[in-house]
Amino acid sequence: MAEQKLGKILVIDDDAIVTETIGILFDQELTVLSAASGKEGIAAAQSELPDLILLDVKMPDMDGYETCRQLQGDTETAAIPIIFLTAKNESTDEAMGLELGAIDYITKPIVPQIIKARVKNHLTQKRQRDELENLSAIDALTGIANRRRLDEYLENEWRRAARNKYSVSLMMIDIDHFKNFNDTYGHQAGDDCLRDVAKTIANCPQRPSDLVARYGGEEFCVVLPDTPEDSARDLAERVRANVENLAIKHSGSPDFSVVTVSVGVATAAPSDKETNFDGLIKIADEQLYHAKESGRNQVSVS
Ligand code: GH3
Ligand code: MG
Ligand code: MG
Repeated sequence: MAEQKLGKILVIDDDAIVTETIGILFDQELTVLSAASGKEGIAAAQSELPDLILLDVKMPDMDGYETCRQLQGDTETAAIPIIFLTAKNESTDEAMGLELGAIDYITKPIVPQIIKARVKNHLTQKRQRDELENLSAIDALTGIANRRRLDEYLENEWRRAARNKYSVSLMMIDIDHFKNFNDTYGHQAGDDCLRDVAKTIANCPQRPSDLVARYGGEEFCVVLPDTPEDSARDLAERVRANVENLAIKHSGSPDFSVVTVSVGVATAAPSDKETNFDGLIKIADEQLYHAKESGRNQVSVS
């Protein structure tokens, strides 16, 4: 098995000697990706989401400043820190790079100790920021993703689906007669039930790109990128069955003797210009309502 690397950096420079040198410098510690133009670099940043970008200023076609502007203007890549790497060493260039939002500026020719120290410092800071970010993206009661994270994830996946021309499925899950559960067993038992159900749902999806989140109260969502309706329906049915099989006693339920969920499923393929995913949520919500109306403990697909 390959040893665990400390991070992933992307070097965007039209000079192959520079990208190769940096690749060799960090070979042991980091995964180093390279791109020979701004356009290629933006595409690599979007698909690979590196932890840090080293960006040359002077390049044919699109220069580093413009590349930086585009990276920062795209919500997917906006948070990736950028260090300018250039042979220019006038202070006005440095000011311009920093004003554009770069976090640092390194002048060529490359001095190995300096570039190593700076890159490592910035990667450490990035990791600390990511950890904090992660904490605020998690629902305190259940430990799964929260609503904020869900919205952010869905927005990004929706864009990615539009670009790569695939569909996104969304599952909306609601515990049946949960008010009665609290009334019968108490709020504390209700919280325990929410945790068990969340864990069961989180164990169902198979792919790393699937996201399970608490939507609010006793409602959960699962985002399934690049997933057609049939697969989403199968997964929803597994979620429903696994929750029922938990066999959490629910004597207050007028319909069933154990805790159950109803699931609404929506699948859509966004067009290039479509930036709003509210329609997908609306359809999943309508299907959930339909599942409730049809007797609960079931899956409804658009
Ligand atoms: P339905 O089958 O139609 O979904 O009925 P329901 O009773 O589940 O739906 P309703 O929306 O009427 O009630 C939801 C209940 O979920 C009410 C609320 O007390 C409970 N709930 C929401 N958040 C929490 C929580 O964090 N902990 C606990 N224990 N209960 C919660
Ligand atoms: Mg509800
Ligand atoms: Mg409910």
